[in-house]
Amino acid sequence: MSALHLHLTKSDCQCRFCNQPIAKGAEANRVKGGLVHPACLTRRQSLLSSAELAERLGVSPTVFLKLAAELGVAPEVYLPNPVFRSGADVPLWAPELAETLAAQPAIAAARERQCSRPPKPCST
Ligand SMILES: [Zn+2]
Repeated sequence: MSALHLHLTKSDCQCRFCNQPIAKGAEANRVKGGLVHPACLTRRQSLLSSAELAERLGVSPTVFLKLAAELGVAPEVYLPNPVFRSGADVPLWAPELAETLAAQPAIAAARERQCSRPPKPCST
């Protein structure tokens, strides 16, 4: 348990992640920029990057993003680009999507296409 970061709020404030109020005296976790519900922090930590989710599905991140758009699946949240302030926001995906999407024929087809592709010739 991350007791170090657990606060008891001294006044009503707003969760940085879900924008719902955190009641005075309730437990909250301090993150960069403010306080969040412990449950919201746990949820945020369980979210997957595009690369992680793509790997679970067995497709490349590029293929995954294309299929997600086609299937109308949206990221749970976008985080500001950690590298470039002006860079594109980074999408984070619900971990449940790994199972939901794995059952999609489009994903299965993409995975098979990828697997049946001959291995890349060695460049050296
Ligand atoms: Zn919250």
